[in-house]
Amino acid sequence: MTESVLHAEVLILGGGPGGYTAAFRAADLGKNVVLIERYPVLGGVCLNVGCIPSKALLHMAQVIHEVDEVGSHGLSFGKPKLDIDKIRTWKESVTKTLNDGLAGLVKQRKITLIQGTGQFLSDHSVEVQGDDGKKTITFDQAVIAAGSRPTEIPVFPNDDPRLWDSTDAVSVPEVPKNLLIVGGGIIGLEMATVYHALGAKVSVVELMDQLIPGCDIDLVKPLHRRIQKQYENIWLDTRVKAIEPQKRGLKVTFEGTKAPESQVFDNVLVAVGRRPNGNLIAAEKAGLKVDEMGFIPVDKQQRTNVPHIFAIGDIVGNPMLAHKATHEGKVAAEVISGMKAGFDALTIPSVAYTDPEIAWMGLTEIEAKKQGIEYDKGAFPWAASGRSLSLGRNEGVTKILADKETGRILGAGIVGSNAGELIAEAVLALEMGADVDDLSLSVHAHPTLSETLACAAEMINGTITDLYVRKK
Ligand code: NAD
Repeated sequence: MTESVLHAEVLILGGGPGGYTAAFRAADLGKNVVLIERYPVLGGVCLNVGCIPSKALLHMAQVIHEVDEVGSHGLSFGKPKLDIDKIRTWKESVTKTLNDGLAGLVKQRKITLIQGTGQFLSDHSVEVQGDDGKKTITFDQAVIAAGSRPTEIPVFPNDDPRLWDSTDAVSVPEVPKNLLIVGGGIIGLEMATVYHALGAKVSVVELMDQLIPGCDIDLVKPLHRRIQKQYENIWLDTRVKAIEPQKRGLKVTFEGTKAPESQVFDNVLVAVGRRPNGNLIAAEKAGLKVDEMGFIPVDKQQRTNVPHIFAIGDIVGNPMLAHKATHEGKVAAEVISGMKAGFDALTIPSVAYTDPEIAWMGLTEIEAKKQGIEYDKGAFPWAASGRSLSLGRNEGVTKILADKETGRILGAGIVGSNAGELIAEAVLALEMGADVDDLSLSVHAHPTLSETLACAAEMINGTITDLYVRKK
């Protein structure tokens, strides 16, 4: 076993989107950076087993559905033939292209990349256990970007290969005949979209009384209505009580007022959230505070209770989203480099890449009601959008929430094709302090889905002509 000592001006623990962004920004600001990553490739959960491979699979699902749906418009291609090995290889080629790109960016910036699992030895040193032995790295300042992992339910048979977490599901070990998804959140519903398109009979069980709890119900309903027709079952207000491995599958027992009888599934995907990795890095040896959930508390500059150690991404709190981590990573690198920076984004948009997609930002109606905030609401139905109808879809809705007095944009939500792309305009509107007139008077190209944002604004200021709204 070898032991060597290396020194970093800035040590970054974890090479996901947050960690590599912090490393790149710190290097660009002239710092000598050591980046530690336990896996042989950079990109973390998002690039390797999360956002990116799931989007490659969701693209397949979208093509399968579109080909099916244009059949009724007079264009038939026949039934799709699936070559799962080839799909898997293609998906892996997408992640590999990005892995290689990141490796190139590390070299160009002369960052020292160390492969292995890092744990703190003190408030100025980390020990890295790699395949080639242990290394000690001392540092002046550090950024913890060690992420999160899927939540396991201890009473489930977690060692049974038929019980999947999101990493298993994204690897597409096979297409089960019968798949149960525990958790009707974003991961559960994205994977439901993929496996249904690939031919599995999908059932979803959700503890709460709606899918994607926390998202406004009017945005969730169009998705719910569509998948209710496609999937075997969607059980709300229902908890999985037990999962018993049997020869013919996993026998699942449910509880709740609407709970069905126990049933056997080929596979069960558990997607009930993620937990932070704050307890896996020997944080106590550096004197770091870690809360009971495993999160590491930070201030607006991403600084932990130890002033020269920063933390970013999933490990500091919800929402656990790559785009939050990358922005926090830049803030940490800039503060470390002596710049006046802070995380002061007004909103972090959320996107469910389901079919239809759901995206929202800023204030939700759930939050507004909870906080007693008065608002004006404009909701434009895509049944009146020529662009949407020409895509063969009419279920979308774009809504805007605005301040009653000033008309300033407070929040927006979109359900429909490409909602994840469209929400960016609303985020910019919020950040720039735009009001409904700014949105409605900005000329949007016709015919586009982006027009629906202007139309939603027109529904608030009363200038809408695409619909007839009776005067109050
Ligand atoms: P989630 O919190 O979004 O959803 C988990 C769901 O499981 C919730 O609806 C919850 O009510 C339900 N649940 C919890 N315990 C249950 C039980 N015992 N039985 C039935 N239902 C139960 O978590 P997720 O979907 O696992 O995603 C994890 C994290 O990853 C989230 O922070 C999410 O934002 C992030 N993520 C984001 C994207 C994206 O941005 N598109 C995609 C995937 C994951």
